[in-house]
Amino acid sequence: MRYKAILADLDGTINRGSILLPGVHEIYSKLSQLGVKWYFLSNNATLLAEGLCEKIRKWGLSVDPWQVVNSASVLIREIETVHREIRIMVIGEKCLSQGCSRAGAILTEDPKQTEAVVVALDRDFSYAKMRRAHKAIQAGSKFWATNLDVTFPDEENFSPGAGSVVAAIATAAGVQPERIFGKPFPDMAEMALAQSSLERFECLLIGDRLDTDMLCAKNANMDFALVLSGATTSEMLSESSHKPEYVFSGVSDLLQLYS
Ligand SMILES: [Mg+2]
Repeated sequence: MRYKAILADLDGTINRGSILLPGVHEIYSKLSQLGVKWYFLSNNATLLAEGLCEKIRKWGLSVDPWQVVNSASVLIREIETVHREIRIMVIGEKCLSQGCSRAGAILTEDPKQTEAVVVALDRDFSYAKMRRAHKAIQAGSKFWATNLDVTFPDEENFSPGAGSVVAAIATAAGVQPERIFGKPFPDMAEMALAQSSLERFECLLIGDRLDTDMLCAKNANMDFALVLSGATTSEMLSESSHKPEYVFSGVSDLLQLYS
């Protein structure tokens, strides 16, 4: 059994909006019974890892909080370990602000006081928020983003993601974020790896996007399985210069690697 851990993306891989994709239950139980550790790696920072864990449990998968890592987990760890008491302006949802505050950051909406602007998906994004973030960056604040996904899959098609909010602020400010916590950067995969006590080659990352999931796997030096159940079509794959180790129609095809 080559892969002792599966690091799975959520949206487009495990679920589509509120709907669990076909075969997920079965493969999750089968591999868990074989002793495979599952981790869920999501760029979504509209919930904290605990909240995502609850969401996954509601789909009927039995998960513990240690199995869930999102871009907010990386941000929170960074605040706890190197930026305690940093004054942060959060352009994001309530639980992200709560997580930053619990980690030791001081929340502010005053651009002159802000040391770091954190931009995430904010479903109440407004001109006023964009202006505040822009003022802070002009005044010398750091510019951080949870992730750059321009869209994410919903039940019908796609909705604008954190990357669209980041792009609005980056366009106004004329600079790009200097730190991105989610995929394609390897931090989330590294957190799961550290938790697992496994070797890198024993982990397989699985996801539906080439520009985030596959690149994250490459950056973390892990093998990658692309699923065609989300954002990437086989046409898009054939145009890509980098190829995944495996291409599956959906996550249940993982069984091929264990028979
Ligand atoms: Mg995805």
